[in-house]
Amino acid sequence: MPEAIVDLRSDTVTAPSSAMREAMARAPVGDDVYGEDPTIAALENKACELTGKAAALYVPSGSMANLIAQMVYVRRGDEVILGQDSHVLFYESGSGAALAGCLYAVVPGSGLINAADVRARLQAGSFYAPRTALVWLENTHNRAGGAFYPLGDLAAIAALTSQHGLPLHLDGARAFNAAAALGVPLLEIAQHFDSLSFCLSKGLGAPVGTLLCGTAAFRNEALRFRKMLGGAMRQAGIVAAGGLYALQHNVARLADDHANARRLAEQLQGIPGLTVDLAATVTNLVLADVVHQGAKALADRCAHHGVRFAPVTPSRVRFVTHLDVSAADIDRAAAVVRQAMRD
Ligand SMILES: *Cc1c(COP(=O)(O)O)cnc(C)c1O
Repeated sequence: MPEAIVDLRSDTVTAPSSAMREAMARAPVGDDVYGEDPTIAALENKACELTGKAAALYVPSGSMANLIAQMVYVRRGDEVILGQDSHVLFYESGSGAALAGCLYAVVPGSGLINAADVRARLQAGSFYAPRTALVWLENTHNRAGGAFYPLGDLAAIAALTSQHGLPLHLDGARAFNAAAALGVPLLEIAQHFDSLSFCLSKGLGAPVGTLLCGTAAFRNEALRFRKMLGGAMRQAGIVAAGGLYALQHNVARLADDHANARRLAEQLQGIPGLTVDLAATVTNLVLADVVHQGAKALADRCAHHGVRFAPVTPSRVRFVTHLDVSAADIDRAAAVVRQAMRD
């Protein structure tokens, strides 16, 4: 029998477990456009409890959560301050510009930004300058290899934005990974933000959904934009139940994914022709630079042997650990990469 595929392309590839599917099958449902789905209500309440926010809204995807947040805060032509490598700039089809009318004040560099970066880009407020409407962070940071913000940096940025009366939003698709890496509850990260999103469909292992959390007024506006975008769903409690199950069962185990990422990085580091920044492997993403071989050629070769990962640039590959990958799978993946580099 051929060995099962080890799929390290993304933590979005996780499939619902049978226990999660049972919870989904049993879920009470109603028409959520009428506000009558009890499972969605339970999920949104749980999100409020975990983030300390007054209100939460269940939306179909992280990209829609990001677009809705921009629509809530930004008037056409307003500026959003954010880092150059943000997910919204790379992977969301330009939706913030196309549909929310955002202009982006981009902080150069590949990763996290700080209070001085934000201060340097605040618009002075003359009538001819675009207005700064929003400050946007990503945590953990996807293109920065899963890096997370120290709490002190978040506090410094939040102090600055509140001093200027600006909203601070978190694209927290992997916010639970940041919390796990810091060893704190999500609440301690969320408290610095006016609003935030987190995804259920990545490391938490649910099939669909993102929670967008903030004040009651924020949710009212977001509800309107969700409907405008066609993201209001009916008996979606059947999928929300998977998310509720994930929040109950799959948060504490994220530390295992981080340990597996570390395990993989340590083994990859010893392979001639590959470089891995071990110190930068802090959550569930591992980036490796390929010295003698194109990233795509390496990924194709390994896929042929049942180990999948993503070429993210011509010379860089990305591995993502998640709940469907065991320590034994990691060892096998490293062995396959080692053999492919030797060949
Ligand atoms: C995955 C991701 C998203 C978007 O998620 P989708 O559900 O795939 O639309 C947003 N932000 C970050 C940082 C992500 O990693």
